[in-house]
Order: sequence, then structure tokens, then C-alpha cells
Amino acid sequence: MTKSRVLATELFPGGVNSPVRAYLAVGGEPPVLVRGEGACVWDDRGRRYIDYVGAFGPLVLGHANRAVVEAIKNAADAGGSFGVTGPGEVRLAELITERMPSIERLRFVNSGTEAAMSALRVARAATGRDLVIKFEGGYHGHADSLLVEAGSGAATLSIPGSAGVAAPVAAQTLVAAYNDLASVEAQLERHRGKVAAVIVEPVAANMGVIVPAPDFLPGLRELTSREGALLIFDEVITGFRVAPGGAQELYGVRPDLTVLGKIIGGGLPVGAYGGRADLMDMVAPVGPVYQAGTLSGHPVVMAAGEATLRGLTPDVYERLEAAGERLAAGLDLEGAGVARVGSLLTLFFREPAPRDFGEAKASNTAAFARFFHRMLDHGVILPPSQFEAWFISAAHDRAVIDATIEAAAA
Ligand SMILES: *Cc1c(COP(=O)(O)O)cnc(C)c1O
Repeated sequence: MTKSRVLATELFPGGVNSPVRAYLAVGGEPPVLVRGEGACVWDDRGRRYIDYVGAFGPLVLGHANRAVVEAIKNAADAGGSFGVTGPGEVRLAELITERMPSIERLRFVNSGTEAAMSALRVARAATGRDLVIKFEGGYHGHADSLLVEAGSGAATLSIPGSAGVAAPVAAQTLVAAYNDLASVEAQLERHRGKVAAVIVEPVAANMGVIVPAPDFLPGLRELTSREGALLIFDEVITGFRVAPGGAQELYGVRPDLTVLGKIIGGGLPVGAYGGRADLMDMVAPVGPVYQAGTLSGHPVVMAAGEATLRGLTPDVYERLEAAGERLAAGLDLEGAGVARVGSLLTLFFREPAPRDFGEAKASNTAAFARFFHRMLDHGVILPPSQFEAWFISAAHDRAVIDATIEAAAA
């Protein structure tokens, strides 16, 4: 182990500042990565890898995209935070609301966690109800009330309900099965008049990628409207990735509130929540829902997000789709199935690809771990868990995709 790795394990729990970065599920030590450019990253010994982690989602244009780097430099040169609303916030918000018309008004925060937590607060205030329905294997950040049957690192580490969350808080969160409208309807009926919102990743991406069944999202819209509950789309991953207007455009379903993060910060820390103007006007200083942030809407972050959204042209979406299609078709492994929406995909060691968390959990995680290390040996870095999405960027050209397919077949 390098000296910095030894120090990291002393300084940080498990040597990491986010548990998904640890290689516990696949074994071994993560490489020490020191540079990224386009589709590739380099370790401290100068070895190059094709990267499918993409910082876990934000880097849709690839590493060190020139326009994004320039925007960050220029914003930093102009000074830091001024403690008043600035033009960068307005420009990024305009880009977001143009592409996602369901967002009439929004608030920037510093992480997806904060955004999801705040959206729930608004939903509870607007409906006067306390309960929330989420899906098994859905991940919405680590706010107390959302760490119930959570996906991502919590699924990888088998921590479905976190220690340290007060039982009465966890009890406010009801759980349903993804792609199973009957399980949602049952919860809504059992708790009639008490459910404030249903929060869902429209394409599940934190239990590995799970494609929504055709009737699932429209069904959620119908059930929530009928029961007077709000529908919250967590588009922290899908937003501006699966389509210019996110999953809500791709599937034609309009949520009441949307949670954003990752891509809108261009690789810097960010989150946002927004939606119907009447709901967002519940938020202080207009309304009684308190939510604040010292560094929210930071000019450097806004600049990186703006450059990223401007870089996401129709042509880029075509390339992302083509790259995803080519990779999915080329990953032809015995006993494995690919789930994909655009540039988001997971190779599940299970056939066919799962429809919910229960099926995802039945994947052969030992086979995934072997595959992961084989790919690493061949110079391809995947997210270190069966329960994460691979992120393709606009810099993953045909040669990169073909090299990945070759590595997978080796
Ligand atoms: C990453 C993620 C979050 C949390 O965002 P952070 O910025 O890590 O707090 C929330 N929801 C989804 C769907 C995510 O993938």
C-alpha cells in the first residue's frame, strides 16, 4: 500500500469519504487515481484506465472537459461567494427550467441528499401529511427518513436501515416494490389520507439500473393524484442524462417536485429541488418551510453546471445513446443480462436483467467481483458493486467502447 493509502485508512473511516468508494464488495484496493481526461483516468504509476465510474454520475461530458474547466477557472478568478443571488444561479436555473418544464421554481442546495430531504419537507408541509413512500433499493441520499431499504452503498454493504436513525423517524417512511404498482396502491390504501408523497428514481440506478415497466411511472402519477399525495421524481442521476429533459421527458410523466444533483454541478458538489410554483412558494423566505445554505448556488459550481448543460447538445445525446447501445450489445456474457437506458447501464450476473430490488439482490455478486477485477486488469474501471450503474460519457467514442467490449470478452 502507498503511504497516502495507509494514511487514508487512519484518517477516514474505511479509508474513504463515501462508502461506495471502498472496494469491500469486490475485494482488493482501489487504484490511486491522479488524473482524468475524456473517457480515461490515470493512476499514480501512469497506468491508464477506461472509466465507467464518471465520479458516480456527474461527468456526462467526460473528465476535464475543456469548456467546463474554463468555466470553473473564470468563475474562480472572479472571486468566491458574495452572499447575494448572482447571474450564474439565474442562468443555470433558466437552463434547467427550459429543459424540465415541470420545474417552475427551484432552489439550489449543495448535495442530492439535501435536495431530497428538502423536497420531502415541502411535500409534508403542502399536504399536512407525514408519511412518505419510497421503493426498496431506491437511494435518495442519506437523510434520516430516506435510509430505509436504501440502495447504493447501503445495498452493497447490506445496511438496509442505518443505525442511528430514530425509530419514529424511520416509521414515517413506507416501502413499496419498484415496478409493482399494486404494492404502492396497498400502502396508499392502508394509510389513506396520510401519505404526503411518493419518491422514486424514475429509472432506478442505485440497485444497478432497473428499467421502469411501461405502466409504472404513469401508474404512480395516477395513484398519487387520486390519493392527494405528491409525486417526487429523484432525477439526481437521470436528470439531463437519459434525455435533455430527464426521465420525465423520456417517459412523458410530469412530477409535482423534482430532485436534481450530479450533472447540474458539472462534477462539483450540488443539488437542487423544484417543481410547481405553488409548492416551491412554501419555502422560506416566502413560505413557512425553512431551508437554507451558506454556499448554495456557489458561482464556481453554477459555472461548471452551466457549461455542462450547454455542452449537452442534441448531437451529444445521440452519441450517448449510440455508445450505450453498442456497449450493451457487445457485453455478451454467459449468465449475465444488461439493463440499459441511454448511457446508463448495469451488467447483472443474472439472466434476464432484474425488474426490482429482490431480483437484483439475487444476482451472482461473486461473479460480478471476478468480472470487476478482470476488467481492472485489462484497464477498465467499473463501479465497484453489482448495485451501481455504469456511466458512459460523451467522450466514450467507438474505439473506447470497442476496447471495453474486447476486455469483457477476454
Ligand atoms: C447520488 C444520489 C443522491 C444523493 O446525492 P449526493 O449529492 O450524493 O448527496 C440522491 N438521489 C440519487 C438518485 C442519487 O443517485
